[in-house]
Amino acid sequence: MLNGCPHCGQTAFPLWRKLLLGPAASAKCRHCGTRLGVHKRKAWAVMLPAILVIIGANWVPDTSIAVAILLLDVIVLFVVYAVRVPLETRGDSTQRDPTQGNP
Ligand SMILES: [Zn+2]
Repeated sequence: MLNGCPHCGQTAFPLWRKLLLGPAASAKCRHCGTRLGVHKRKAWAVMLPAILVIIGANWVPDTSIAVAILLLDVIVLFVVYAVRVPLETRGDSTQRDPTQGNP
């Protein structure tokens, strides 16, 4: 699952939320409340090549080609980020067991 919670196995939050979740940020699973973040090392491994492409696009003399490269870069970044970067629990979580119901 692209955005499955490693704690409860349910969809933690919408995919767009995961795509906007950087390596330093976290968000709570909407089912179990576990605080989740993206796998930091894998997130950086995906983002660094995309950042290098953005920097490299500055040297492309044709603006329309540079814009096309940037759009393709962002699309590829989002797809690879969604598929290859898993969610992980964060240490500051306030977990509750979904089988225990509301307190
Ligand atoms: Zn969960």
